[in-house]
Amino acid sequence: MLEIYNSLTRFKETFKPLHEGHVGMYVCGPTVYGDAHLGHARPAITFDLLYRYLQYLGYKVRYVRNITDVGHLEHDADEGEDKIAKKARLEQLEPMEVVQYYTNRYHRDMAALNVLPPSIEPHASGHIIEQIAFVQKILDKGYAYVSNGSVYMDVEKYAKDFPYGKLSGRNLNDIVTETRELDGQEEKKHSYDFALWKKAAPEHIMHWPSPWSEGFPGWHMECSTMGTKYLGERFDIHGGGLDLIFPHHEAEIAQSCAALGHETVHYWMHNNMITIAGKKMGKSYNNFITLEQFFKGEHPLLSKPFGPMVIRFFILQAHYRSTVDFSSEALEAAEKGLQRMQEAYARLQKIQAGKETSAIIGGSIDGLRQRCTEAMDDDLNTPFVIAALFDSTRAINTVHDGKGTISEADLNELREVWKTFAIDILGLRLEEQGSGDEKMKAFNGAIDLLLGIRLQAKQNKDWATSDKIRNELTALGFQIKDTKDGFEWSI
Ligand code: ZN
Repeated sequence: MLEIYNSLTRFKETFKPLHEGHVGMYVCGPTVYGDAHLGHARPAITFDLLYRYLQYLGYKVRYVRNITDVGHLEHDADEGEDKIAKKARLEQLEPMEVVQYYTNRYHRDMAALNVLPPSIEPHASGHIIEQIAFVQKILDKGYAYVSNGSVYMDVEKYAKDFPYGKLSGRNLNDIVTETRELDGQEEKKHSYDFALWKKAAPEHIMHWPSPWSEGFPGWHMECSTMGTKYLGERFDIHGGGLDLIFPHHEAEIAQSCAALGHETVHYWMHNNMITIAGKKMGKSYNNFITLEQFFKGEHPLLSKPFGPMVIRFFILQAHYRSTVDFSSEALEAAEKGLQRMQEAYARLQKIQAGKETSAIIGGSIDGLRQRCTEAMDDDLNTPFVIAALFDSTRAINTVHDGKGTISEADLNELREVWKTFAIDILGLRLEEQGSGDEKMKAFNGAIDLLLGIRLQAKQNKDWATSDKIRNELTALGFQIKDTKDGFEWSI
């Protein structure tokens, strides 16, 4: 049986992919029944960072991140009703219309956060046949039973042959006391048995035929099925939030061992959670803040809008295994930090190398690349990478302020390290300053100014200047129309 790692300490020494040069990685994606909030941003950014770093190390990565669009049962509030079905009933939409709507919005938010799209993004609803086959395999091996049209994992039987609870460090007694009375409890042999297939209640609108009933797969089933379908019966990395260790990932391990006789995942990686003013995010606290609300500043807990790069920087400032507590003040501090990086990056593009070969700044950037690499190798220690980059801003500012010079070689190295670590690996868009609205305002103002100069030139019969502005703006794709009292323009 393969070993379980909960983190990847010192990548280069300890990380051994199953197939040389290739990495298969699976990350539990969003449930698309509502807008993505801060809790979605952390795993997306953490595993985007890993995806980017593995590629930087030269691996060919197949990154699978699923879309949960069926069977995710919310135990506490929805009394077992599928969230997407419920939303569809409330909004009078086709369930797949709800799925598409929120998937599109999720993609929009992820693009704003500069999260790269995965190699494959499978939908649970598109893999019902494969999930039924997986459930059948578990039944054939004797680790599941059918009860009233539903199929449940026989956890007690499984635990005799495999170590159930290995990932979360729980034993069956712990699990019994944790499990509350839930829907379907009377159908199960034991409270800790979990559903592999659920018979749909008459009001349930998303259901499919199966050998056992018209119904839908249990939530844990989709990840076991789609992970092995696209990455093979054994693959390298499975990621997700810490809250998924139990029951979701523990159940996935059990399903895979039961069906295949062995574990599928070589390394498990979990990002820690984000709390809001010390509290878990949750429906009962009513403290979910969607990413769109952050970008627009539309939430009572927010002092102002925060751009997507501020959110990304805020998350990367902490190590992925530590908790992060959100507050408006913490985001404002992150915004200041990001601005300092943006300013340093802009200066780095402008400064010039000194003429003397032995320029004085060189020493302070010695070992910068190595410090950044070692920090990333040490279980993706992004706070150390950010600190190393901040250290180098002193050199940038010294040259910028004319208090020192830098050699051509050192300047090139400094630019390359920033490009590699800040832009490519941390995925920070440092060239962007100001929000989209501010940029648009400045852009429109600049065009109006230019056309105002042209108008002035025309009035002065300076045809050369007037034609030059008109022709060059036209060549750039602008349409300029002279009007009675001035001009109009469009692109
Ligand atoms: Zn999953």
